[in-house]
Amino acid sequence: ASPRTPLADRSPDELRSFLEEKRAAYATLVERGLRLDLTRGKPSAEQLDLSEALLSLPDGHTDRAGTDVRNYGGLEGLVELREMFAELLGVETAQIVAGGNASLTMMHDVLVFHLLHGGLDSPRPWKDEEVVRFVCPVPGYDRHYTMLESYGIEMVTVPMLADGPDVDAVEALVRDDPSVKGMWIVPTYANPAGSVVTQEVAARLASMPAAAPDFRIFWDNAYALHHLTEDEAKSADIVSLASAGGHPHRPVVFASTSKVTLAGAGVAFLAGSRETVQWYLGHLKFASIGPDKVNHLRHVQFFGSPDGVRAHMAEHRRILAPKFAAVDAALSAELDGLGIAEWTRPRGGYFVSLDVPDGCAARIVALAKDAGIALTPAGASFPHGRDPHDRNIRLAPSFPVLDEVETAMAGVATCVALAAAEQLVG
Ligand code: PLP
Repeated sequence: ASPRTPLADRSPDELRSFLEEKRAAYATLVERGLRLDLTRGKPSAEQLDLSEALLSLPDGHTDRAGTDVRNYGGLEGLVELREMFAELLGVETAQIVAGGNASLTMMHDVLVFHLLHGGLDSPRPWKDEEVVRFVCPVPGYDRHYTMLESYGIEMVTVPMLADGPDVDAVEALVRDDPSVKGMWIVPTYANPAGSVVTQEVAARLASMPAAAPDFRIFWDNAYALHHLTEDEAKSADIVSLASAGGHPHRPVVFASTSKVTLAGAGVAFLAGSRETVQWYLGHLKFASIGPDKVNHLRHVQFFGSPDGVRAHMAEHRRILAPKFAAVDAALSAELDGLGIAEWTRPRGGYFVSLDVPDGCAARIVALAKDAGIALTPAGASFPHGRDPHDRNIRLAPSFPVLDEVETAMAGVATCVALAAAEQLVG
């Protein structure tokens, strides 16, 4: 067999010698005693350094209207920052709130407000429903699932495709079952699939009939601006589409600067219909007298304009793109043509999604761990941490420096080849 003959086409003898070769390569890998981590989509220190100037801002402490940002008040956030991100996210200023440092907290608040109080068009609070179900595209973001799980909300999965969630499947689930109250979507460079929801898919999601009058799309646009190439995906305008489709309050949009400025000290945003914004603030006002406007003002001064944000994102791309190229190069070098792995080549976002033969993902993660390479646990991108096929691995190359990404991914590729050969030899 040539080195590129698919494993499935090799004779038993050829497979056994391939397995021996990979066992030897793996033993060498373990001997190196690596300590590398590809588990979480965190920005690297080099990326955080791009925002160093934030730490000496703001210059002064009054906003455009002359308000002292050091004091209480302004629950909806600084208007100049809302204007900037309204433009970037394609909504009107009255349709966006600038909040604290975590969009995940805003998602959680919106969920809990629906549970305790109900939404704008809810017949009753969701806590008073017998069952509440959410549609979850898979693979997806683990924290979305664990949030639902913590409130006993049932999760129904649909496949995440290249143009967004399988919209036929979503329509069928939502049409007749009033217990289906919501769905998660990461519309741009999804975590981890990298997919971008097209305008057509978004239009169908925005206008599809739903048995629940208060069906919600949690539109988590965490990677709206996080392009890895010059071919920049434009996020579908879900708020306008839903309004045109007769369901203006269906989407709630979330975004943040966690992977723009400082992951732990950025600004998060919530957007939707004007009524959605007022509904949200109407509940939030019992929990807060106002957000960190000092942080809002320094972000305004740091960026200057929406174009300032775009220019800043180009700096991230300069650091990140080579790491994603290294992931692809390492996997291609070891696995191309073998018929045992498929992976994404995302045009943005923070992740590569790697599919291996069914039943091998957990074994590969364990092999990598024993070789000192920490990967996200197999199954993490599925509700309850269970990948029904045990085949998906999420790779997060942003945090380590480039040569560590290269070393770690060469090691991961060896583990993939070894696990696949073990399975085939039996
Ligand atoms: N949403 C998605 C899809 C993410 O991948 C992440 C972080 O990894 C977040 C939200 C967290 O956002 P924030 O830092 O604004 O809470």
